Amino acid sequence: MRPPMALYDATSSPVRFRNWIDGKACEAASGGWLESVDPSRGEIWALVPDGRAADVDRAVQAARRAFRDGPWRGLTAAERARLLRRVGDLVTAHAGELAALESRDNGKAVRETGPEVAAVAEMFHYWAGAADKIQGETIRVGPASFNFTLAEPIGVVGAIIPWNSPLSLFAAKVGAILAAGNTVVVKPAEEAACTSLAFARFFEEAGFPPGVVNVVVGLGEEAGDALVRHPDVGKVTFTGETATARKITARSADTLKRLAFELGGKSANIVFADVDLDVAARGAVSAVFTGGAGQTCVAGSRLLVERPIYDALLARIAKLAGEIRLGDPLDPATAMGPLAFERQYQKVVSYLELGRTEGAEIAAGGEWGASLFEAGSPFAKGYFVRPTLFRGARNDMRICREEIFGPVTAAIPFEGEEEALALANDSSYGLAAGVWTRDLPRAHRMVRSLEAGIVWVNSYRRIHWAVPFGGVKQSGYGRDSGLESLQGYLQTKSAWIDLG
Ligand code: NAD
Repeated sequence: MRPPMALYDATSSPVRFRNWIDGKACEAASGGWLESVDPSRGEIWALVPDGRAADVDRAVQAARRAFRDGPWRGLTAAERARLLRRVGDLVTAHAGELAALESRDNGKAVRETGPEVAAVAEMFHYWAGAADKIQGETIRVGPASFNFTLAEPIGVVGAIIPWNSPLSLFAAKVGAILAAGNTVVVKPAEEAACTSLAFARFFEEAGFPPGVVNVVVGLGEEAGDALVRHPDVGKVTFTGETATARKITARSADTLKRLAFELGGKSANIVFADVDLDVAARGAVSAVFTGGAGQTCVAGSRLLVERPIYDALLARIAKLAGEIRLGDPLDPATAMGPLAFERQYQKVVSYLELGRTEGAEIAAGGEWGASLFEAGSPFAKGYFVRPTLFRGARNDMRICREEIFGPVTAAIPFEGEEEALALANDSSYGLAAGVWTRDLPRAHRMVRSLEAGIVWVNSYRRIHWAVPFGGVKQSGYGRDSGLESLQGYLQTKSAWIDLG
């Protein structure tokens, strides 16, 4: 019997994670390393390879060989499905370790990463189920020819992912890419790459041929850019900032790459006066505070509240926000961990100052850093920010227009449905929106009129691997999850058979 698979070698300090290219763990060609900081303590805990263009090229070549020449191409869809299912089973077998690793590396509370890992296993089972349902069609064009289409994989796909939910985003993209029969090079964010590097081993353990899945870490401007420009990469699926997507669009022009973008948001969470205030308050809190400490693209970071309940709702939210327990992300009792790294922490803190100078008032939170812990606490150097609620905000303030990506929401009052819609849609982003109302026709009207890729009614942040996920406007195009995302990794060939 094989010994149980180790996710990483924990014997060195800091722990070293290696890239995964052509079925082997390897260091960067340059020999360089990047530091990964445990954000709850502000200490370096791991090193990840500083991959550059040479590493990316090696990974792309391995993926190209695996796509064109290796056994992968000859597998039946049912065999691909079996491999994907095994990955899901391996995730379940290593669920606790994976959740702890993600929490350690990016600071998200294990209360959240535990269920996320369970969902990652389900995602691989879902994509296993989809692998043998890829079909073409026949088209009647007349008696002289028989016409049919083949839904074929694209080839090598590049997947560039951010640091806020690496495991979930890795799984959502890679599961669909492989189900469609492609090979992949993943470029995780340099700030939180450890789980992606650990995850790479599952594919070997499951029996995937070498080169089908490769993971290369490096800086975005180096490794990410090399992947975007590589002529042998057929498509890049990217999750990250809108500004980065603009660069990627420009840099991929020479190779006419197919692109899919899941980008930022400034999502409106709209509460009408007819709701149960306690339910809506709990919803608003989980929409932006306890979900990844606000570092989620769909965060309900603009809270639109109908004027008659403005004070009462804000008082309830402020009370709940004050009760949120911050601390060790690995402690199951912790409701909210730190921000993922120092630059992000400084950015969020700067928005707390900005909100005040713009004239908004802090109704909850507004504190950060060592002051949140007793003297001598190991978390005093961590990147913690208390959940912060601004009241008296206006939609033209920068705190209402720019993505803060932290536990901060700005409450804007409104009068009636029309104004709520106008405010919600007055944003360059269009990722998600929440609507809280007991009025069913109004809920339907809002769903139709909101400029967003996702609308939740009387809930917020529900996500499922079978449901398409993505935005409109500056929040991107293309979808992760759901069968629609599978189509994004396929291309159509039409065939004409002459019957004359
Ligand atoms: P980012 O754009 O800075 O980085 C994302 C990834 O792109 C990283 O791997 C990074 O190394 C890489 N990258 C950076 N510059 C690059 C370049 N020039 N060429 C190629 N790759 C490059 O984003 P981030 O700060 O890591 O993530 C936060 C952002 O992600 C937020 O805007 C958030 O809203 C968004 N996000 C969106 C979704 C969604 O599904 N819509 C989900 C999670 C996060």
